[in-house]
Amino acid sequence: MKNENLIIYLDYQDILTFCSGHLLYKEAYAYEWENENVIHIHLSKKCHQFGQMYPALFAIDNKKTMQDKQFRFHVFIEKILPEPSVSVFVDGVQSDFYYIPDRNSLFSRNKGLLEKDVLKSKKAMIIGLGSFGAQIAVELAKAGVGKFSLFDFDRIELHNLARHIATVNDLGRLKTDVVEDAILGKNPYALVDKFPIDIDKNEELLSSEVGKSDIVICATDNNSSRLNLSKELVKKNKVGIFGRAVTRAAGGDVFRYRPGGACYACLIGHGIISKEEISSVQAGRLSGAIPAYTSDEDAQAVVQVGLAADISPICNMMIKLALLELSKGTESGIQTLEDDLVYDCYIWANRREYNFKNWHVFYQSGADRTIMRWYGVKVHKLDGCPVCSTDIILDTGQKGEYHDPENSDYEGLALV
Ligand SMILES: [Zn+2]
Repeated sequence: MKNENLIIYLDYQDILTFCSGHLLYKEAYAYEWENENVIHIHLSKKCHQFGQMYPALFAIDNKKTMQDKQFRFHVFIEKILPEPSVSVFVDGVQSDFYYIPDRNSLFSRNKGLLEKDVLKSKKAMIIGLGSFGAQIAVELAKAGVGKFSLFDFDRIELHNLARHIATVNDLGRLKTDVVEDAILGKNPYALVDKFPIDIDKNEELLSSEVGKSDIVICATDNNSSRLNLSKELVKKNKVGIFGRAVTRAAGGDVFRYRPGGACYACLIGHGIISKEEISSVQAGRLSGAIPAYTSDEDAQAVVQVGLAADISPICNMMIKLALLELSKGTESGIQTLEDDLVYDCYIWANRREYNFKNWHVFYQSGADRTIMRWYGVKVHKLDGCPVCSTDIILDTGQKGEYHDPENSDYEGLALV
């Protein structure tokens, strides 16, 4: 660590916090990105360090504390209104530094497009933190959403890495922990509740968390959990965004439930459903999507083989719909999308295979159905829908969930 080449970042929110108190000095922490000559100074200890940590000191009086050699980094603060005057010394030598922005300046780029003060108080509940849920969580954090509740009992495995935000360093970690870190990396002020449990087996918790949320993102891999959630959304009058990929991520669909509108059970009842992506060999065998006679090796070939680039457009639509719902009633730029995103269900194709094999080539397709273009579908409430129309208790067992999946694809749909 050579002082003259150091790039130093100082947490401005910490300066403001220190100034609002009455302490003359307080111990702090300087974290070094090792061998990169980059230092980040924080008042609070970070849960995950990124290399060496050195003792640092925040102080009002520079003369007395400078003599204390146990602190390599000294941050001197003069409480001048409205902006304090700050200087940083490394081993007694004054050094240049930059600020890590404070809470209010963090999302200044979103100005006009999103209401950061509105989003700060909104809570997004995300069920399933695979390649979809994890990416959506981080994007919502970037947009300034301030509160999250995260549900997934899985850990990061090798086969997740190609599509997930997780890195090799995250192998074995709970997805809830990995995604929390990623959210806090974008918005250190976000409040994150983690539930590494199977939400389908915790009906009470599902119900109370849905009740506390402003929006629910459903990024699970099965209809049983989607129907479970649907029931709660209807009960609690909450908006839900559902998204998934179909086999080999050849395409996918996004469904938005708005109170009073068609629910996920209506969608299934109308047959607007097609064979979905199999998230793991175990899940595929359980649902019957991978027959017993298929070897593990053959089974692996059909499990989540899609690219991260195939997932992103579907996530993107879910994120836009979520931000639109969360920004309701504001004057923000994103509200113009209200005129465009009027459908309940959106369909996207990445490649002309499986459900989309008969679709037209992109080139000069005109009004014909083609790949890489969104199609909206109006879903009407189903007469006698067991979830949103009557008091019938819903059977969310695996059997009979699909509306004849073998013969059902998007072909019969009148796309708008
Ligand atoms: Zn319904």
